[in-house]
Amino acid sequence: MQIVVDLNRCQGYAQCVFLAPRVFELHGEEALLYAPTPPDDQAERVRRAAAACPVQAILVGERAGAEAGTDVR
Ligand code: SF4
Repeated sequence: MQIVVDLNRCQGYAQCVFLAPRVFELHGEEALLYAPTPPDDQAERVRRAAAACPVQAILVGERAGAEAGTDVR
């Protein structure tokens, strides 16, 4: 799985950090750090985090890979 967070969109609401703390990390007020290729056992949490993001800043899976221009495998 691959994720991309649109950091221009991200407002630091930290819903993702709360739902998937091993993937998303907030430093300070608005600096979001995240793992672009989270382990498979985090997939469900990442999907929940993406769904919960109030500004839909988290792109998940093939779509994210395609937009990033990288091979998902
Ligand atoms: S839930 Fe969305 S807006 Fe909030 S920190 Fe995560 S990516 Fe940013």
